Amino acid sequence: MRRWVVAIDGPAGAGKSTVARLLADRLGYVYLDSGAMYRCVALLVLRRGMPPEEATCLAQQAQITFDPVGVGEPQRVTLSGEDVTAAIRAPEVSQMASKVAAVPGVRSALVQLQRALGAEGGVVMEGRDIGTVVFPEAELKVFLTASSEERARRRHAELEARGETMDYQTVLAEQRERDERDQTREASPLVAASDALAVLTDGRTIDEIVTELAGKVST
Ligand code: C5P
Repeated sequence: MRRWVVAIDGPAGAGKSTVARLLADRLGYVYLDSGAMYRCVALLVLRRGMPPEEATCLAQQAQITFDPVGVGEPQRVTLSGEDVTAAIRAPEVSQMASKVAAVPGVRSALVQLQRALGAEGGVVMEGRDIGTVVFPEAELKVFLTASSEERARRRHAELEARGETMDYQTVLAEQRERDERDQTREASPLVAASDALAVLTDGRTIDEIVTELAGKVST
């Protein structure tokens, strides 16, 4: 029996990564973070000091690999053999990622890679357009969200835990800027698939959500 593709989409800070990783673990599925791919292309653009509009070639040539993850561990991401797991989480990379993600050529190169990685099923893939564009036939589609204040509070705590200093208001403002760009771009804007299960994470525990979703997957 074919194992499922589970698509988890939603805005920044909704809890997608934590939920997707734990769900994959519970199901014995592979976890795939499509945002990390956009972040890798953004990192290359920043390092080369080039305009994001010219990033298509970089996206086509980027050698991005993911290491299998253990419970609660961050996924190790390598770019042309370099471990960029920490580097791609910097705030300037987040902002640049949403700029390169608006470039249609970048999207088609990365979508191709995402489809290849999920072709066999047995994956939980998180992103912005997984249920709408990458795997419109996914057996389970989830649109995860939370209020913008709750999302910014989580991002702020995450940055602090990594020793980065950015005040809450700045985190909130940058997040709104990124959401706005993701929702209004012409190429695959962030939108819930019409058949996605909407899950609001405010005030709910991760375990509750993972249990709810795992119960919907029949294989
Ligand atoms: O999920 P994460 O915040 O790491 O993604 C970084 C950026 O990559 C997002 O703000 C979004 O612009 C872009 N992205 C996307 N489509 C995806 C995943 C991420 O456009 N499937």
